[in-house]
Amino acid sequence: MLKDLSEQAYETAVKRGQYQGDVKDAILHLMTEVGELAGANKRANHGMFEQIVENIGYRESYEFSIKNTIEDEIADILILTLGLAKALDMDADNIVRMKMLYNKMR
Ligand SMILES: [Mg+2]
Repeated sequence: MLKDLSEQAYETAVKRGQYQGDVKDAILHLMTEVGELAGANKRANHGMFEQIVENIGYRESYEFSIKNTIEDEIADILILTLGLAKALDMDADNIVRMKMLYNKMR
């Protein structure tokens, strides 16, 4: 599941002009998203998902109800990280599963 999301995240990023060279810019972008998450968390800014109506003005609805919230920033971080895994030719499922197994044993 993560592997599929990783590939989608990477493909979308490439279409948007990211990953032209190495992954340095994506890593810097990830750091800015972590800062945005800290800001959203400080404001205790949560998304209003019940107001989202898929397929009917979805973009405007998302921007009004979820953009810049804690949920939005966590999604940004996950999407960027998954895209990075694919850009570095890694299997996101495998690296997360292996690390979680290791964490259980610590
Ligand atoms: Mg963001």
